[in-house]
Amino acid sequence: MAARLIDGRQLAAETRAEIARGVAALKAQSGVTPGLAVILVGDNPASVSYVTAKEKACREAGMLSREIRLPASVTEDDLVAEIGRLNADPSIHGILVQLPLPKGISEKRIIYAIAPEKDVDGFTPVNVGKMLIGDDCFLPCTPHGIIKLIEIAGMDLAGKHAVVIGRSNIVGKPVAALLSRKSANATVTLCHTGTRDLAAFTRTADVVVVAAGRPRTLTGDMLKPGAVVIDVGVNRVPDAAHPKGYRLCGDADFESCAAVASAITPVPGGVGPMTITMLLWNTLESARRMAD
Ligand code: NAD
Repeated sequence: MAARLIDGRQLAAETRAEIARGVAALKAQSGVTPGLAVILVGDNPASVSYVTAKEKACREAGMLSREIRLPASVTEDDLVAEIGRLNADPSIHGILVQLPLPKGISEKRIIYAIAPEKDVDGFTPVNVGKMLIGDDCFLPCTPHGIIKLIEIAGMDLAGKHAVVIGRSNIVGKPVAALLSRKSANATVTLCHTGTRDLAAFTRTADVVVVAAGRPRTLTGDMLKPGAVVIDVGVNRVPDAAHPKGYRLCGDADFESCAAVASAITPVPGGVGPMTITMLLWNTLESARRMAD
């Protein structure tokens, strides 16, 4: 392997220690404890484990974590009413609704119900719009974490070619927007399922962010030597040798990409820990604003 590992766990640990210091300082100065409410609807196993990890991280940072578990049979109106109560609750500074929601519930209506000043996921139209304009806002957590990981990889993005694979609202599109902001100054190509020759784009990229949700979307032969690879994908692939019967892998074929790239994020241990970290970051920021 030629590539250096971009260690998301270490960066997350350092950033969380900084956040914990910020939480302690806020408590000492104004008596305010940042509070995050996490709503989980149904019992999707992946969602349960994400929510558990978020709550643990919250408590470790000294924040208040409130979990609201609702059955998959909850009505859209009841869910909106629950969000309304949290919007009005002064002890809650951040509201997160774990996605995906059960069929029949409109994710759009639920996300739009979250007050923008408590939208620490950065998913509401107000925050997305502000991000595009370059205004002060809560940046979406996974894209924000990705920018931090590229920074610690030592890459100066100015004038570089960044290829983003995937155009989802939560990863691909906001990553492309952040990379093309003047503060990053990269030239960005956004690839998706309509892209005709993906490798023709990735082979000219200095950095590739792959968020396609499919293993082996990116392989070493698709990379320019020395490129930086940020692998966002989290895929469960069957593995009889593993106690759980599956293992996690990203969207990049790690072995072949690591042989060509200069730096690469592992899965697990790359983007994932930074996503939760930036959620804590936004919650602390929200509490600071409300305490002012
Ligand atoms: P999504 O399914 O909403 O979007 C995937 C996108 O990839 C689509 O826009 C599609 O056009 C594109 N795509 C799929 N196959 C492609 C191909 N062969 N060539 C080009 N484009 C292709 O997924 P998402 O929500 O953006 O998530 C992507 C992956 O990232 C998933 O594996 C998800 O689990 C993971 N994820 C990880 C984190 C984290 O914190 N680590 C956070 C969010 C998502």
